[in-house]
This record gives sequence, C-alpha cells and structure tokens, in this order.
Amino acid sequence: MNSLIIPCSSCNAKNRIPAAKQHLSPKCGKCGTLLNVKINAVPVELTDSDFQPFVSGAQLPVMVDFYSPTCGPCKAITPLITSLSKEYLGKVIITKIDTSSNPGTAMHYKIRGVPSLLFFKNGQVVDQVVGAPPEQQLRQKLDSL
Ligand SMILES: [Zn+2]
Repeated sequence: MNSLIIPCSSCNAKNRIPAAKQHLSPKCGKCGTLLNVKINAVPVELTDSDFQPFVSGAQLPVMVDFYSPTCGPCKAITPLITSLSKEYLGKVIITKIDTSSNPGTAMHYKIRGVPSLLFFKNGQVVDQVVGAPPEQQLRQKLDSL
C-alpha cells in the first residue's frame, strides 16, 4: 500500500503517513501538531492481497477505480480521481487498483473493461460505473454514499 510524505506546518518534520490512514486525522510524530492531510491526500493503492481486508474493514464508504496503466481513458480520469481523494477525505475513501498486476480482484468482481468504478458500503458493492463517467455523475454517486 502506498504512503505519502506530509511536512509538519509547525516543526517542518516530514511525516510518512500510509494512504490508508490519511483520513484518520494523523498528527506529526515529532511535535503532535495535526497534519494538513487534505492538500496532500492521494487515492489509496490497493492490491489483490490487501483488497478484501481493506474494503470489508473500512469505516467509511469506499470507491475503487479499477484501472490499467496502459489505458487512455483511465489516464484521462486520473487527475479527477486524485482531486476527489482530497475533496472527499473523511467522507468516502477513494482507492485504485491496477488490474494488470492484480488480476484476481478484477476477476472476482467480473470487471470486463477499464476504467470501472465500484462503490462499496460495509464491504458490499452498492453501485458501479463502467467507463470514465462525467465528473457530475461521479460526484452524484459519491454524494449519495
Ligand atoms: Zn511537527
């Protein structure tokens, strides 16, 4: 799973925060100041091995972007997915999984094409979109979670 480096606004210490914990109001390891996660937040990168425990154990709704690094439409929505991970921090956990290196999860959810977006609540799929959705439609789905 990926992590991010967040500089402390108070003591400038660089804090390494696992992306999976970025919504839990992390504090600076050196001085205890609350870190400004929002501007640094990124999608959580999941793999076949951590997907199920992560999604079923999540305390918030989860959106998963099934993508492939060689797919044009996937690349086209990457900036939107990244900005939504900042905007919905603390409301919906935005994640992504590379289907080319993690075929097991894609097979389990019968993903036929990328990008595909799946929306989970309490570990269950409650909604999905195949293909790159218009931003407005994606926001509506996230808001309805
Ligand atoms: Zn600090």
